[in-house]
Amino acid sequence: KFMPEDIQEKIHNHPCYSEGAHHHYARIHVAVAPACNIQCNYCNRKYDCSNESRPGVTSERLSPEESAKKVMFVGGEVQRLSVLGIAGPGDALANPEKTFKTFELVREKAPDLKLCLSTNGLELPKFVDEMVKYDIDHVTVTINSVDTTGEIGSQIYPWIFYNNKRYYGKEAAQILLERQLEGMKKCVENGILIKANSVLIPGINDKHLPEVAKKLKEIGVFLHNIMPIISEPEYGTKFALDGIPSATDQEQMEVQEACGMDMKLMQHCRQCRADAVGLIGEDRGQEFTKDTFANMT
Ligand code: SF4
Ligand code: SF4
Repeated sequence: KFMPEDIQEKIHNHPCYSEGAHHHYARIHVAVAPACNIQCNYCNRKYDCSNESRPGVTSERLSPEESAKKVMFVGGEVQRLSVLGIAGPGDALANPEKTFKTFELVREKAPDLKLCLSTNGLELPKFVDEMVKYDIDHVTVTINSVDTTGEIGSQIYPWIFYNNKRYYGKEAAQILLERQLEGMKKCVENGILIKANSVLIPGINDKHLPEVAKKLKEIGVFLHNIMPIISEPEYGTKFALDGIPSATDQEQMEVQEACGMDMKLMQHCRQCRADAVGLIGEDRGQEFTKDTFANMT
C-alpha cells in the first residue's frame, strides 16, 4: 500500500506516522490538559488518558507557559525534535484555552515544530478552525464504535459532558459518535491528517472494529491503530473491576487483520505518556521535571 504523495510529504519527519522517521525524529508531549469531558470505562482518572497514554502513569501537570519553556528547553537537549503533541493527561480539547495557549506560545518561538493533539473527538467540530489557525496538520481521534444505536458505545462510555449538560447511556454514545464523525470530516475538508485509535475491548467491540475501520476509510482517515485494552486490576478501571480481560497479542493481531490495517505503518506505534519525550520507544519524560527548565527565560 502506498500513501498519496501529499500525505507522505506531511509525515516524512513525523515519528508517530512514518516508519522511516521514528528512529530519527523525536516528539515531546506536554501534560497541559488535565480535564476530560467524557468517561471511558477503561480510564482511571488518577492517571493519564488511556486513549493515548499507557494507563497507570501520572504526568507532572504544567501551565501553558511552563509547557512552552519545557519545549524550548527540550529542543536544545534532544536531537531532531520535530513534533509537539498535546495528549492529556485528560483531553486536549476539553482544555482548549490551555491547549491553544501552549500552541500559540510555541508557534512564536519554534515555527518549524509540527503541532499535534489527541482527543476523544467530542469537541472536535468546534475547534477545527482554531486548529487551522495554528497550522496543526495532524490529530489523533480515539473512536471505539460507529454503532448509531448507541448500544455498543453505552457499554464503553457511561456519560459525556456536552454543552453544559451531562448525558448518559445510549444518548451520550450517540452524541459522541455524531461529533466524532462530524469533526473528522471537517478535519479532512481542511487538510488536517487524522490518525484514529480504537481500543480493543474483548466481548464489547472486538467484532465491531472492522466496521469502525470501514467507516474511517470512508471518511478519509489515513491511519487506524488498534490498541489493546489494559485491564490489570491495579488500574481500578470499571472494565478491570468488571473482569473484562486485557486483550491478548493474538486477539489484537486477529482484529488488526480483520480491519485490513497496514501493519508496517503501525507496528512501531506505542501508547505514549502525556509527558513523553524523545524517540518513540525511548522514554525520557522523567528527565525533564519542572526544575530542569525553571530558569529558562
Ligand atoms: Fe479517560 Fe481519556 Fe477517556 Fe477522558 S478520554 S475518560 S481521560 S481515557
Ligand atoms: Fe505522536 Fe500521538 Fe503524540 Fe501526536 S499525540 S505526537 S501522534 S504520540
